[in-house]
Amino acid sequence: MKPRPNESFTSWFDRQGFKHFKSDELTWYFSKVRNGVKNSTPPRELWINIVPTIKILDDLREHFGKSLEISSTYRALPYNRAIGSPDGSMHVKFKAVDFIVSGISPATVSAVLRKWRNEGKFVGGIGKYPTFVHLDTRDYNATW
Ligand SMILES: [Zn+2]
Repeated sequence: MKPRPNESFTSWFDRQGFKHFKSDELTWYFSKVRNGVKNSTPPRELWINIVPTIKILDDLREHFGKSLEISSTYRALPYNRAIGSPDGSMHVKFKAVDFIVSGISPATVSAVLRKWRNEGKFVGGIGKYPTFVHLDTRDYNATW
């Protein structure tokens, strides 16, 4: 669903029909600061990019029956550089989320995501880290 003229991110996000997610789970990250560089709200033309990723996270919440905590979402390019991430990051395109599922290891979460991707549920990137999982919906598969 596209944003209405002058619609805020919060208003737009909360009418997308997600089962669990509310905008404030993402918006806190838009004002993060690193080394004096402040992140920002994504530009309107990127908002739609995050919808398929959030739908998968919604399904993960259903699957595990656990809460899910987001640790990174959209990064404006200067902020992305300030944290040492490459310019091509899917976070800059607002297609990526880093998160944990409460009480579930990143290995288990990423295994479920890889299974769903193999079944054709989505196309995109899955990154397994010691303390979180990265998920994005780029238009090809990537795994790390
Ligand atoms: Zn990430």
